Amino acid sequence: MPRRNLPLFLGLCLASPAARGTDFSPLLHDMVPVPEGADLRPGGRPMRHPGAGRLVFLNGGGGVYTSGWPNDSVTNRSSVIAGDSATLPVWSYDEASWETVLSCVQDLFADFDVHVTDEDPGDVPHVECAVGGSPRDIGWPDTVGGVAPAGCGIIEEAIVFVFSNVYSGNLDSICWTAGQEIGHAYGLDHENYCDDVMSYDHTCPDKGFTDRDANCGEFASRPCRCGGETQNSYQILLDRLGPHPPNAAPFVSIVTPGDGSVVEAGFQIDVEASDDLGVDFVRLRLAGEFVENDGLEPWHFVAPDDLPAGALLVEVEAMDYDGASATDSVTVTVITTDDCGGDPLCADAAPEADAGPPLRRKTYGCGCRTGGAGGSGAMLAALAFLYRRRK
Ligand SMILES: [Zn+2]
Repeated sequence: MPRRNLPLFLGLCLASPAARGTDFSPLLHDMVPVPEGADLRPGGRPMRHPGAGRLVFLNGGGGVYTSGWPNDSVTNRSSVIAGDSATLPVWSYDEASWETVLSCVQDLFADFDVHVTDEDPGDVPHVECAVGGSPRDIGWPDTVGGVAPAGCGIIEEAIVFVFSNVYSGNLDSICWTAGQEIGHAYGLDHENYCDDVMSYDHTCPDKGFTDRDANCGEFASRPCRCGGETQNSYQILLDRLGPHPPNAAPFVSIVTPGDGSVVEAGFQIDVEASDDLGVDFVRLRLAGEFVENDGLEPWHFVAPDDLPAGALLVEVEAMDYDGASATDSVTVTVITTDDCGGDPLCADAAPEADAGPPLRRKTYGCGCRTGGAGGSGAMLAALAFLYRRRK
């Protein structure tokens, strides 16, 4: 196999700070012989996610990877697995822990033009950070917490691995290891500076990509692999990835019920929402009180069936993956069939009160009382809403 003078390095991370002091230098300084041009991108695919920056796919769903060059996150070909193929199992901790790690990794890269998602980007070029299992799953010793191909520039379609099972549920360490492995894919070296994500030392309370000229090295300072004595991880990422662009707020609209509708308690709420980065979740509030978040499209809620009769403010808020949000609201009048006092016309109309003006007229025509504290005031308000246009 041909070698070239500027090799790709393996970026390795130790499984735990407790492992320090043991000599792992044969692992840490392993270099992978690579064919000429091996880190060039396979032809044909567009370089960048259209209209946005680079993508990182944080994959907790496991996967089967085959060995080879060049690294290709779309077809799961990796230069860092031992053996012909390897299977990484799915994330072993709970969903809430996964969301914590995802949010933490997103925060690490928040200043740069890169979008971290846990939705598979399919054939859109991306760096994949596979999180799960143990190092032995891809043929590495137990002392390794993560591994990545690493050169002196960006490997656009790298696959990096974080072996989350070795961290015993320490979500900070899992997040920081993910940040470090992704950092290797973007060409960063290790830093001998605890506060930086590129450091092996996990004893600091918090980590980030620090805007500081720090010594390179694992447990002692050494010259940086790509030249110089120091590395500024923040400035390098800013230069290579670009700054994070301003983020537009999502679009959100309540489709049903319409503003001014008359509804029964337990009514349905359908929401449309979209965003260039994707909608993370839609939140429902009734009368100003949080009810629930819906993270799955189509966004659909069912109001509680014990709502009091009367006017009710229905608000939804859509949040995108970058924390930008937008709201929409309608005001409806809640009635209950009990309010009808046995009037058969009213009782018939009430369940379909939201169907349109004829039914509303029928409802009011029956002289149905809205009852409760709102009383006739709510009735008047509901009548007034008949003539309001939805925004
Ligand atoms: Zn590393």
